[in-house]
Amino acid sequence: MDFGFGPEDETFRREARDWLVSHAKPGDDRRTWERTLGSAGWIGLGWGASGYGNRTATLTQQVVWAEEYARSAAPPRSGHIGENLLAPTLIAHGTEEQKSRFLPPIAAGAELWCQGYSEPGAGSDLAGVRTAAVRAGRAYRVTGQKIWTSLAHEADWCFVLARTEPGSVRHHGLTFLLVPMDQPGRIEVRPIRQLTGTSDFNEVFFDGAHAEHVVGGEGNGWRVAMSLLGFERGVSTLAQQIGFAEELGEVVRAAVESGAARDPVVRERLVRQWAELRTMRWNALRTLGGSADPGAPSVAKLLWAGWHQRLGELAVLVRGAAAGVGPVAWSASAPYELDAAQHLFLFSRADTLYGGSDQIQRTIIAERVLGLPREPKGAV
Ligand SMILES: Cc1cc2nc3c(=O)[nH]c(=O)nc-3n(C[C@H](O)[C@H](O)[C@H](O)COP(=O)(O)OP(=O)(O)OC[C@H]3O[C@@H](n4cnc5c(N)ncnc54)[C@H](O)[C@@H]3O)c2cc1C
Repeated sequence: MDFGFGPEDETFRREARDWLVSHAKPGDDRRTWERTLGSAGWIGLGWGASGYGNRTATLTQQVVWAEEYARSAAPPRSGHIGENLLAPTLIAHGTEEQKSRFLPPIAAGAELWCQGYSEPGAGSDLAGVRTAAVRAGRAYRVTGQKIWTSLAHEADWCFVLARTEPGSVRHHGLTFLLVPMDQPGRIEVRPIRQLTGTSDFNEVFFDGAHAEHVVGGEGNGWRVAMSLLGFERGVSTLAQQIGFAEELGEVVRAAVESGAARDPVVRERLVRQWAELRTMRWNALRTLGGSADPGAPSVAKLLWAGWHQRLGELAVLVRGAAAGVGPVAWSASAPYELDAAQHLFLFSRADTLYGGSDQIQRTIIAERVLGLPREPKGAV
């Protein structure tokens, strides 16, 4: 693959940068911001020419947009679950009716989505899903509990993996349902307070919630759910690395300011972070066009998750006692007043869990790449 930025990409970069500079303000309301992005046509760049309200962009232009976004003052996205996970899944598995109902509001930044996969007894072992959906005429009644549901408190819709065949086990008898969140008395969202003092994810309780849209047909939920997870990667990896580079730059600056950079061990660790980030970038570019290596996504996840955690540890190390590594140093009442280094340290503890934990990535590499004997059924 010939990966480079041509003159058209640079024109696109200037357009993206100018637009972001003139529209993005720190602290913008995230829901309003999604609509601003949507009305300017910046949502759905990676959908291809779907005809559902998105503007089309080449792969390199998608990278350019992701890079410029990461460099800008724009707030973190709250529409990314709909844009990057559900939309490609609908394009691949949805009916025409579902595409025309759901894609335009995602492209417009008007409807936000959350992901209802994990349950108290089904995380790494997602096939343990117990949330049940029972037919009621042409619709379903959904009952059960999801957990760690990011942005459920802001979302209009949730895609839910539920068991529609009573008595079925593992990945059989599951169905991928689209559930509207505004169902008082039938859906309850309870925020979970994190180590950082904020609540970005939730427990979601369904008590006979109404759902009428099935993606991919009843009983095919596992196939659709796995296909969606395949969309978790892509150009966003490169944007993530731009963010990582900014964070590393801050840590280096703090190390110089505090004098920690004079310590040869700290210097060595900083240089290692820099070198590993370069390696991750080339690896991401190499695999962007679709790698034949079935272990590539797992290797990438293992690399960045560990890298980011080590950066968080370095961030508080170079600040010394002033960073207040123990929670006692912070105000007791949440949300805590955390600075960037403290937030990085605390939030990055989750990096080795979500999107598939380190142990699960190693199992995938062991089984699918190295050909080692598979774990006993039910273990993963
Ligand atoms: C910040 C964040 C956001 C999230 N957002 C969402 C969301 O929006 N929607 C959603 O559905 N989920 C979400 N999750 C949940 C996430 O997908 C799960 O946390 C993840 O799948 C792990 O599942 P678990 O928490 O149940 O841990 P468990 O599966 O119970 O694992 C606990 C520990 O045991 C290890 N382990 C488990 N099985 C094995 C095995 N077979 N071999 C070796 N080690 C094993 C794991 O690696 C881990 O260290 C989020 C999680 C986080 C941290």
